[in-house]
Amino acid sequence: MSESVFRNYIGGKWLAGEDTQANVNPSDTRDVIGEYAQAGQAQAESAIAAARAAFPAWSAGGIQARHDALDRIGNELHARREELGALLSREEGKTLPEGIGEVGRAAMIFKFFAGEVLRTGGEVLPSVRPGVSVDIVRQPLGVIGLIAPWNFPMAIPAWKIAPALAYGNCVVFKPAELVPGCAWALAEIISRAGLPAGVFNLVMGRGSVVGEAIAQHPGVTAVSFTGSVATGRHLLAATAARQAKVQLEMGGKNPLIVLDDADLDIAVNCAVQGAYFSTGQRCTASSRFIVTDGIHDRFVTAVRAKLQGLRVDHALKAGADIGPVVDAKQLAQNLEYVDIAVREGATLAFGGQALERETPGFYQMPALLTDTTPGMRINREEVFGPVASVMRVRDYDEALAMANDTEFGLASGICTTSLKHATHFRQHAEAGMVMVNLPTAGVDYHVPFGGRKASSYGPREQGSYAREFYTTVKTAYTSAG
Ligand code: ADP
Repeated sequence: MSESVFRNYIGGKWLAGEDTQANVNPSDTRDVIGEYAQAGQAQAESAIAAARAAFPAWSAGGIQARHDALDRIGNELHARREELGALLSREEGKTLPEGIGEVGRAAMIFKFFAGEVLRTGGEVLPSVRPGVSVDIVRQPLGVIGLIAPWNFPMAIPAWKIAPALAYGNCVVFKPAELVPGCAWALAEIISRAGLPAGVFNLVMGRGSVVGEAIAQHPGVTAVSFTGSVATGRHLLAATAARQAKVQLEMGGKNPLIVLDDADLDIAVNCAVQGAYFSTGQRCTASSRFIVTDGIHDRFVTAVRAKLQGLRVDHALKAGADIGPVVDAKQLAQNLEYVDIAVREGATLAFGGQALERETPGFYQMPALLTDTTPGMRINREEVFGPVASVMRVRDYDEALAMANDTEFGLASGICTTSLKHATHFRQHAEAGMVMVNLPTAGVDYHVPFGGRKASSYGPREQGSYAREFYTTVKTAYTSAG
């Protein structure tokens, strides 16, 4: 379907919004990817109504139809991963291999949940009353509002849409303002997958309008959100007030501990990959390197050398290791955090400055800050850019305490060859995901994803654990009479 304005998809129809918004390439701001519809509140409400109308038939319909639709979507994403990966990189700014990889991951997620459709069973237990049996089944919730961020414009929508549909729910999907291109492409694939009209709806528009309508509307049974802590907390209050189910994935301030006994190459790779790839724009990115005395100087020297060799450039250029920051506002925030850190006493050991490239974009040299302490803002607040700091510690015990000294708890990593310390860390890290000798960012698609403390709220996403959020439990008692 070729479009001059990419429209919203509501009740099986492609509809113009109240307004349109240009989608601009962060690697080259002269490149406009397209004009995308912006819904108003009335259109968001009509999508919710369409989803409600479709729910009774869809939730009662056969599981074969659900399996087939998800499998078809997964197959098409996989077949078109290079083309859609290029769109993703052009729109969001991660490099082309990263973009293609993300689309491939989205494909696998749809295929995983196509399988889950067939595997979702219940339990049968004996009753304490003779002659009675008890069975426990999972049932769909209703209409799920999905509010997504810009940093994984294919994978995050996929890991919300696929389980929502797999377990028999209808969907109103609101992508982030900065990445309507991937959202529209995904919606277009879903529109041809054989779903009845209204089961899946795409509503592009502003968070304060469309997101707010989803949060407030009594017809939306549950809301799954990924984004900032401030918006997440706001959504929590709005959904709690009307007793809607809610799941939030928010920020991180993820530590990577490097102990004296670590393999230096592994530690440096984990640090550079985890903190700076995808321009540091991952909620699982490492942003605090906690390094023991004996390896500290060698680690800093080696990370600096590695950063020196990386190429920051247009996301679609062959050989680019790191693409641009997503937009001007995020770049200004990253630069400001580097300044704040230096003003608070940190040493800027590498990079941090804005860069010019052949094309006008939001380029920034990865930043490494040393001599930082736990109280500094750079070690407490999420930056969400290619900026990481180093804290020097005496030993493992101090490192663990520092790693846990944060309001967040998404991912936590350690590089060590000590089985004792690795085992202790896996047990005591206050995080939803723990990595040993691996980057904090980079997770499998078939196992649970999520965190603790201020990072997350509600049941985990992904893998078969996703059913906790996307279904409700019914306990049925039967007597033969
Ligand atoms: P970021 O600062 O990374 O853009 P946000 O939390 O603002 O993170 O955005 C994440 C998602 O939440 C986006 O889809 C955005 O449009 C949406 N959003 C923003 N404000 C609201 C709101 N008041 N209600 C619901 N959704 C919102």
